[in-house]
Amino acid sequence: MVNMKTILVTGGAGFIGSHLCEALLKGGHRVLCVDNFLTSSRANVAPLLSHNNFVFLEHDIINPLYVDEPINQIYNLACPASPVHYQNNPIRTIKASTLGVINMLGLARKHRARILQASTSEVYGDPLVHPQTEDYRGNVSTIGPRACYDEGKRVSETLCFDYHRTHGLEIKVVRIFNTYGPRLAENDGRVVSNFIAAALRGEPMIVDGDGSQTRSFCYVDDLVDGIIKMMDTSADIQGPVNLGNPVEFTIKELAEKVMALAGSARPITYTKKFREDDPMQRCPNIAKAKSLLNWEPKVDLETGLKKTIEYFRNKLEPA
Ligand code: UDP
Repeated sequence: MVNMKTILVTGGAGFIGSHLCEALLKGGHRVLCVDNFLTSSRANVAPLLSHNNFVFLEHDIINPLYVDEPINQIYNLACPASPVHYQNNPIRTIKASTLGVINMLGLARKHRARILQASTSEVYGDPLVHPQTEDYRGNVSTIGPRACYDEGKRVSETLCFDYHRTHGLEIKVVRIFNTYGPRLAENDGRVVSNFIAAALRGEPMIVDGDGSQTRSFCYVDDLVDGIIKMMDTSADIQGPVNLGNPVEFTIKELAEKVMALAGSARPITYTKKFREDDPMQRCPNIAKAKSLLNWEPKVDLETGLKKTIEYFRNKLEPA
């Protein structure tokens, strides 16, 4: 018998959030899913709505949230996360990571709940240390187009540690690196969904610059497994802990892989110009996650891309 908990997931209708809700329900828990649909979708949670232990609350966390029933855990994932989305909504983005986080920390305090904050590899900015370890303090612009997200998430970590030190709140901070998989929004704007959608539509994949910038891509099931393991660590562990796949690829290599697997006939287009503030290298050092959580990703890029391509194929070409 599992020890059934009541778990609030903000951003629960998002890409990672909806997979997390599903995993928690499978684990036998009651899930209160909170989302404002700013960048997420009703379709992501539609299959969960009939589940007896699933409750959906349409709410924007930048406003206080009051919940009557006792909550044991809060996963705070709500925030626009794709560069295209957060740069279209910079003020709402920084509000989610500041006002929103304060509201969720307050809710956790009231319920004596443990809270996990989804932070990001973006706290490292355009890193000068490679691969990035948690003690690296980052190279972040405070005023650039990515700052609303990067600096917002840095403050979210600070808030968690201040609530922990001031109020003894049980906090967990994870820094999530690039993640992909089914339910990435078609208009998400991130590289994996852009490339797959372009290939399946017979359009050219557009690679920024010469494609020499690197990222490492973690399949969503692996990531969700790591997040849950972090939440369930003993109370003396706060993090931050990097969660991501340490196998690094250039964006050009990614485009070539998608081309081979999705069967695009159009040549790859190179813009020759990198995006402003674009990190040139990004790859997690996951030694801490390995030792603390006994976690490491299991799904390789080819396997994960095949599953993601299948999802997009069904979405773009309904039978
Ligand atoms: N990128 C690209 N073509 C696209 C989308 C993204 O070449 O259609 C590049 C982008 O310039 C960046 C990398 O892919 O160097 C990853 O971008 P993404 O928006 O997925 O997320 P980031 O890791 O920058 O937050």
